[in-house]
Amino acid sequence: MDRRRERQARNEALIREVNERIEEVDRAAEASNVDPGETLFEFLCECGVAGDGDVGCEEHVRMTIREYEVVREQDDRFVLSPGHEEDALESVVTRTERYVVVDKRPEAEPFVADDPRGAPSE
Ligand SMILES: [Zn+2]
Repeated sequence: MDRRRERQARNEALIREVNERIEEVDRAAEASNVDPGETLFEFLCECGVAGDGDVGCEEHVRMTIREYEVVREQDDRFVLSPGHEEDALESVVTRTERYVVVDKRPEAEPFVADDPRGAPSE
């Protein structure tokens, strides 16, 4: 794996942490009166492609909390804006009009193994 791909894989893990925080906010909304299976929230695309800075894609992906939870059930799955998937790094698991779910190919997994959900929240 070359350096650009390695960096991209790291970025994806970072963006996922951001999305975990978004999800916390969404849970608060859910606690109010929002239907988690119906209401669309904006998550960040996790494609990890670096733009001007190093942090990557600023596309938003609209999906329900239920849909996002399904993605998070597996450590090596990421949600992307349609068209942002990269065949060399990932294979598409689910494709909809709003988002694409990809599975990391094995050679990228050492860099994404650290799921923030498993760690203490400090
Ligand atoms: Zn993207």
